[in-house]
Amino acid sequence: MRLVLFGPPGAGKGTQAQRLVAEHKIPQISTGDILRAAIKAGSALGTKAKGFMDQGKLVPDDVVIGIIEERTQQPDCATGFMLDGFPRTIPQAEALDAMLAKRQQRVDHVLSLEVDDAVLVKRLSRRRTCPVCGTIYHLDFSPPRQENTCDRDGATLAHRSDDQEAAIQERLRVFHDQTAPLKAYYQQRGLLRAVDGSGAPDAVYQGIRTVLAR
Ligand code: ADP
Ligand code: ADP
Repeated sequence: MRLVLFGPPGAGKGTQAQRLVAEHKIPQISTGDILRAAIKAGSALGTKAKGFMDQGKLVPDDVVIGIIEERTQQPDCATGFMLDGFPRTIPQAEALDAMLAKRQQRVDHVLSLEVDDAVLVKRLSRRRTCPVCGTIYHLDFSPPRQENTCDRDGATLAHRSDDQEAAIQERLRVFHDQTAPLKAYYQQRGLLRAVDGSGAPDAVYQGIRTVLAR
């Protein structure tokens, strides 16, 4: 199964991806995670991406398309994968369709998590993540048992540099401007599966299971 997890920043794509990975045993491919790892490693890719990311802007299409082209050809993607945060523009979606068509493959479902902007701001500004295992927390909605410490491995939780007010506002603007048009793109192709993302994480996951079973 080849899935696209679609939704604005803070909609819960990463949170739901962790549940989908556990159930479907397909890898989660997050362009945001790959770019953040490149920044941490100090690679040329990271250097190129950092300025865009800190400002809440999109990294250029050719950069993320190259990442996806390479990553989806790894052996663990043979039976499927889940794209989290890609595509984010129409040219990215077109490139994805073209690269899959060359391999006689296609996207099966686009899960669109629907959440209002006011809720997104609350979610993003209080998000924390474990730099070691990637577990996603929220200081109010899913706090760690011990302050600022990962429940699984005891690491100190990180606050993303783009989860600050100014960058959050810019990311939402960019989403509405450049990414939201993808809904019509996938609707026209009969692939869009809208899910209410405003409930608690388990309720949202039930919604995902329901649309995938249809
Ligand atoms: P995305 O990957 O779409 O940016 P995340 O999965 O990282 O979103 O979630 C953003 C923040 O909102 C995190 O702090 C997460 O714990 C929290 N969150 C995710 N889903 C829900 C939900 N259904 N209800 C409340 N908070 C949520
Ligand atoms: P979010 O939690 O906002 O959904 P991500 O981790 O998916 O965040 O993305 C963080 C940042 O990485 C984005 O604001 C953007 O700068 C960059 N990025 C990630 N994926 C893409 C993409 N497909 N196209 C362009 N830029 C991307």
